[in-house]
Amino acid sequence: MTRHLALAALLLSPSVLAAQADPGDRVILITFDGVRVEEFFGGLDTVVSAREEDSGIYDLERLRRDYWRDTPEARRRAVMPFFWDSLAPRGMVLGNPARGGAVRITNAYGFSAPGYQELLTGRAQPDVTSNDPVRYPHQTVLEYARDRLGLPAHRVALFGSWENFRHYAASREGAVFVNAGYDTLPADLRTPEMRRLTELERRALALWEGSRLDAFTGALGLAWLRHHDPRVLYFAFNDTDDLSHSRRYDRVLDALHALDGFLAELWRTVESLPAYRGRTTLILTTDHGRGHTPRDWTDHGEGVPGSESMWLAVIGPRTPDRGEMPGISATQASVAATLLACLGLSPEDWAGTHAPPVAGACGPR
Ligand SMILES: [Zn+2]
Repeated sequence: MTRHLALAALLLSPSVLAAQADPGDRVILITFDGVRVEEFFGGLDTVVSAREEDSGIYDLERLRRDYWRDTPEARRRAVMPFFWDSLAPRGMVLGNPARGGAVRITNAYGFSAPGYQELLTGRAQPDVTSNDPVRYPHQTVLEYARDRLGLPAHRVALFGSWENFRHYAASREGAVFVNAGYDTLPADLRTPEMRRLTELERRALALWEGSRLDAFTGALGLAWLRHHDPRVLYFAFNDTDDLSHSRRYDRVLDALHALDGFLAELWRTVESLPAYRGRTTLILTTDHGRGHTPRDWTDHGEGVPGSESMWLAVIGPRTPDRGEMPGISATQASVAATLLACLGLSPEDWAGTHAPPVAGACGPR
């Protein structure tokens, strides 16, 4: 290396060098916990909002002003304008039951841990029967992708609001980088901004002890993306589930609206970075549905019809620009193989019997 090159290398941060050296595809997986097809595809649902004792809405007039519109398309756009205007046209959106679409979980439980394990391992795992903080022996698509691409752990990263993602991310501790709940970031990998965010998240009290607020999960993961050039980055958000269980329908819609703001910031960041622009696929989905009725929209699990019903969006350079594709059905198990295809890997090489990728979701770039 000549002296000039050595000087240039000193001036560039390691992440910038890595980005220049690595032309591979990036995948960003995003989950919104327990978001129903009703809100995702139709926005404000009058079945829920009709009676205050069912909805828990504090100020219906305000809510209607913000989110009531005459058609389902306009209502969902009021809740998630960036997603529907700017992301959906650049990919495929599956699962709208009003148009005959069906995306379903295949596990028998309809709650979080079985859903995340199905999503990450490519099949329903019958031994995952509780939300306990347990590490399971099933290899996840995250650890497989890291092995296959030969990456350092910090370039396959998961930022989760719920602390249990420490256990659910991989079958072996340390197999991928995880920052979940109120975890501290390693001193050699954090920036002053990340350090400040982890101080603040502890003072911004979320409803439950085991989860931080999604705003911090999003901001930390975005900072990670800018500094560490992950090839696979998973944002696992949680606010929507806590607010639904708390029967605050108004705040569920507000939380979705806030997550849409995060998607806008994420996409601006992707478009601004040469390592990510034109090479990045977003996969957006959920871990389970919830009940359809005014009483049980808050709930989910065995015996609550609707828990099996979910939605899935794949947005990126390998995906046809089609928007809603109601005719294509998919399962939660198909997300893992889809992620591999969007990374440019062949899902068939992953040992074991895994569900195939969503048809046509990620072809050649
Ligand atoms: Zn959940």
